[in-house]
Amino acid sequence: MSNVTEIFGSLVFNEQVMKQRLPAETFAALKRTIEEGRSLDRSIANVVANAMKDWAIEKGATHFTHWFQPMTGITAEKHEGFLCPQDDGSAIMHFSGKELIRGEPDASSFPSGGLRATFEARGYTAWDATSFAFIKDKTLCIPTAFCSYGGEALDKKTPLLRSMELLNKQALRILRLFGDTQTIKVNTTVGPEQEYFLIDKEMYEKRRDLIYCGRALFGAKPPKGQELDDHYFGSLKDRVSEFMHDLDKELWKLGIFAKTEHNEVAPAQHELAPVFTTANIATDHNQLTMELMRKVAGRHGLVCLLHEKPFAGVNGSGKHNNWSISTDRGVNLLEPGDSPSENAQFLLFLAAVIKGVDEYQDLLRISVASAGNDHRLGANEAPPAIVSMFVGDDLMEVLDAIETGSACGPMNKVEMRIGVHTLPRFTRDTTDRNRTSPFAFTGNKFEFRMVGSSQSIADCNTMLNTIIAEELRQFADQLDGAEDFEAALNDLIRKTITDHKRIIFNGNNYSEEWVEEAQSRGLLNLKSTVEALPYLIKEKNIDLFVKNKIFTETELRSRYEILLEKYAKTINIEALTMLDMAKKDILPSCMRYQEFLAHTLLEKRQLNLGLSDGAEEDLIGRISSLTGCLYNKIGLLEAALLDVKEYTQSKPQADFYRDTVFVLMQEMRAVADELEGLVAKEYWPYPGYGELLFSVQ
Ligand code: ADP
Ligand code: MG
Repeated sequence: MSNVTEIFGSLVFNEQVMKQRLPAETFAALKRTIEEGRSLDRSIANVVANAMKDWAIEKGATHFTHWFQPMTGITAEKHEGFLCPQDDGSAIMHFSGKELIRGEPDASSFPSGGLRATFEARGYTAWDATSFAFIKDKTLCIPTAFCSYGGEALDKKTPLLRSMELLNKQALRILRLFGDTQTIKVNTTVGPEQEYFLIDKEMYEKRRDLIYCGRALFGAKPPKGQELDDHYFGSLKDRVSEFMHDLDKELWKLGIFAKTEHNEVAPAQHELAPVFTTANIATDHNQLTMELMRKVAGRHGLVCLLHEKPFAGVNGSGKHNNWSISTDRGVNLLEPGDSPSENAQFLLFLAAVIKGVDEYQDLLRISVASAGNDHRLGANEAPPAIVSMFVGDDLMEVLDAIETGSACGPMNKVEMRIGVHTLPRFTRDTTDRNRTSPFAFTGNKFEFRMVGSSQSIADCNTMLNTIIAEELRQFADQLDGAEDFEAALNDLIRKTITDHKRIIFNGNNYSEEWVEEAQSRGLLNLKSTVEALPYLIKEKNIDLFVKNKIFTETELRSRYEILLEKYAKTINIEALTMLDMAKKDILPSCMRYQEFLAHTLLEKRQLNLGLSDGAEEDLIGRISSLTGCLYNKIGLLEAALLDVKEYTQSKPQADFYRDTVFVLMQEMRAVADELEGLVAKEYWPYPGYGELLFSVQ
């Protein structure tokens, strides 16, 4: 596409635009503010706001909004017009510095997990100047963080920004120990690969489960699924490729560089990968990407499903969170370097990751916990619920050699001494053979593959940054003032490997043996969201967050409540939707079909020609018994939804949803799916899996 460079970033108030439109001293002051993360001076804010307004109006914008990421996991905005009436009856276009840097959306309608009870209902949004403003739907959007008046974070962005700052601080300490005096800032970089399904809009609109819940709550397996692997990397259907081109263009305008798009394993499943950027921009961009996927799909008569498991029995969708840390001078700290000293530094960062992932397996698991992702983790298509990490055979040999102080393969059988020897380069080829690992080293970054497709990546990156920063802090404390730096470094890395190598697993994570092996290693296997969540408020985790000022204990506890509540609400909506569909559509359809069969049977008998009526009789019998069974399940599920109201505490309530309501839902589905296989298509109320998955041409 020839005009890519022209449209790229055309709707973003980026540095280039700032430079063009701001007076030199304002631009310099703003840049300093952004780099140092300080708050903006009011007089500068006024100038910036005015330039932004003029630019936005030229681009057709009429409104502005603070764009933020509340705990709902999606983005929120409250539009206000630039138009401002004057006393003399005329109007001007107005946007002040005050409106740019601070907004006051009513916080009371967003989940706060009890923070509301203790603090004021009002909240405020504050401009996150590290993420550029942009135009969407004729509205100037200002990326913001969202807090209560007591200063508590009410969103996903505030903790992410706090964690990035923390990692910056601790990583810099390490760099200084290695004699780096030039790096001013260390950034977390993230590139999230996004999976999604595209289905036909007409089909979608016929299914209330897809409309209300984003996933099919009923549906028998089609004769053909994904077993032939003929969709993976296959040629794109015309409609899909038109959608992708259109989506690319929209993303480019917002400065989001979508690089590769291809078919995934399941029919109708696809993937998009952007080029990586800093963690908070990547998070903003991923939210925008998900939003645009849905919107652009609509233009093409398609619906984009971002649910982790829209169709039981076919692969679900995830998001691979590629994560690394790099300096402001572009040095990737998770890349083995060229000199022994760079390699020693790499190994120290690697050791921090190994220790962090081992000590905080629970937090990584929690960062991807949701009702939707429960269907996916451990279902032999995505990593299991057990957190482990993959480093590959070559790097493993190096780690083994360090631990035992013995000869080492890739080092040509010399004894490995940190700070003395150069490491081999680990290319992607030798490091990315394992696609089953939840957390894989892929040459110069880690790929966290447990994240669900609909989830905000703010959560997992907040966790990753925090735990790695904590380990770096401990390392820096130990190395600071060591008499013999090299000896201390050697000991530290060796000890870390010995103590935490149980978290490394280079084998097949999908196998049964691994589940047993992981258990014998003492690794956690938190199978469901409700099992995982209580770990969030374990003392060691509260300590971690409070000490590092990522969450206060109150914030953390409120988040625990929000997550439990969200789980319960999700299952509740699904159960109600199932009941609605079963009672109003499935049961009546089965009865109508039985009536038709009975009628046929009766007519045959009345004709008295000795025609065989065994098929009708048999079908009526089977359908009638299954229908009775379905009716029975409906009663049980309804009763369970009454029982669940008895619980006043969120944890036992969530447990009941998981152990009773969800189990009944699955039983009910099994009966309905069996009926789908028996009832004539014209009588079945919904398009089936086959139509949903194979109808887009
Ligand atoms: P592929 O998985 O297609 O072979 P890559 O490994 O190059 O391709 O990239 C996968 C994703 O990882 C992309 O979104 C890319 O931008 C991202 N990525 C690459 N390097 C880094 C890095 N240093 N930090 C964060 N993300 C990265
Ligand atoms: Mg990948």
